[in-house]
Amino acid sequence: MHDVIVMGAGPAGSMTALRLAEMGHGVLVLDWREILGDKLCTGIIGNECADYFPPDESHIYHEARSATIVSPKGRRLRVEKASPQALIVDRVAYVGSVADRAREAGAEFILGARVTAVQVSTDGVTVRTEASGGSRSHRGKMAVVAGGFNSPLVRMAGLGSDEPQDFMIGSQAEVEALDLCETEVYLGNEVSPKSFAWLVPVSEGRALVGLVSRERLNGHAESFLESLRRQSKIGKLIKGPRSWGIPVKPLSRTYGDRVLVTGDAAGLVKPTTGGGIYYSFISGDAAAQTADEAIKADDFSSRRLRGYEKRWKSVFGNELQIGYHARAFYESLSDDQIERMFGEFLDKDALGDVINSDDFSFDWHGKAILKVLRHSSLLQVVKSLGPAAAPFLARVFRSGG
Ligand SMILES: Cc1cc2nc3c(=O)[nH]c(=O)nc-3n(C[C@H](O)[C@H](O)[C@H](O)COP(=O)(O)OP(=O)(O)OC[C@H]3O[C@@H](n4cnc5c(N)ncnc54)[C@H](O)[C@@H]3O)c2cc1C
Repeated sequence: MHDVIVMGAGPAGSMTALRLAEMGHGVLVLDWREILGDKLCTGIIGNECADYFPPDESHIYHEARSATIVSPKGRRLRVEKASPQALIVDRVAYVGSVADRAREAGAEFILGARVTAVQVSTDGVTVRTEASGGSRSHRGKMAVVAGGFNSPLVRMAGLGSDEPQDFMIGSQAEVEALDLCETEVYLGNEVSPKSFAWLVPVSEGRALVGLVSRERLNGHAESFLESLRRQSKIGKLIKGPRSWGIPVKPLSRTYGDRVLVTGDAAGLVKPTTGGGIYYSFISGDAAAQTADEAIKADDFSSRRLRGYEKRWKSVFGNELQIGYHARAFYESLSDDQIERMFGEFLDKDALGDVINSDDFSFDWHGKAILKVLRHSSLLQVVKSLGPAAAPFLARVFRSGG
């Protein structure tokens, strides 16, 4: 019997496996993919994430220390820091390298194997897989669900509720890049309803064009691509656009008897931008630590495994709450209000002061939002944005302490 069966080998599952294997536990990882990491993603990671699991030089397309934000009416705000804040990485290679490290540390991977059933009983977990060679059963003392967005594995493992998951849809295409040197972020309902869109240069001559929204996307990706083409920023389409979901709220419970849920499957994603690689790593690490304690105590009850949820909440629980309130507030703004906020921010040096302060980090949006709101002149701008501002501020300050 394996100590732990990890279902899914994206950033969350591979990190869980790596940490458990490093601690000397027997880990089996199952994934239906043959090429790990190959899911829809832009591959932007902040400095802290890159410090936590450093990408190989060959996985880095480039470092980002500036970006241009474009308002609904086309005004441009360039934000720049003295040092790089984020890396744009080859996501497939980067995530694949976490899995490689886990394998080297002793984790067993079975690829091309889809988990079709999970049964939790008093003496262990039985996981059934279907692969080209037929179906198989695997036994573990416990299991970690790391199957990504809206994973049916959560329900199979006896967790999750019947409520629909709160989510956004991200849509992204790979294009030929023309004369593009840095990331551009586009705001406004026309581009992406109640959200934003991006143009991110990756390797020589290629860029990723995408958008994310909680509203139904209806030709928005195609219109955005067309507008970038008209501006001669991009050339021909290389791949896509393809779409995939991004959760914006965590599951009400991320642990149960003999089971933990990590990464996107648990809804652990920054609600502001939809970035989830770093939180997947952190939750995978927290799952491994909790599993280690459970194995040593030979106690896999939900009471023992509850420590997992405390762990991830202590690191980014507040961030998720503040990010969620910020997204809800932003979604309540009209294009005119966004334009006004943009103009006011452009006029004030205060935004630059906040962004350039030493403790401003791309990885911690909640802290950055609090910093903006604690700046008196920026707070006035937010307060002037109408009736939704007061409850938003109350919720954020309550969550942020
Ligand atoms: C358009 C878009 C852009 C994004 N850009 C960024 C970004 O720039 N930066 C960032 O940090 N985040 C980004 N994200 C989010 C990020 O990709 C996810 O948060 C992250 O991949 C979550 O990792 P995970 O391991 O939880 O899930 P996943 O990466 O989805 O991995 C889940 C794994 O489980 C496997 N699996 C699922 N079901 C089964 C099954 N039944 N049996 C076997 N295996 C199974 C899958 O094959 C997959 O390998 C983006 C998302 C989207 C949609």
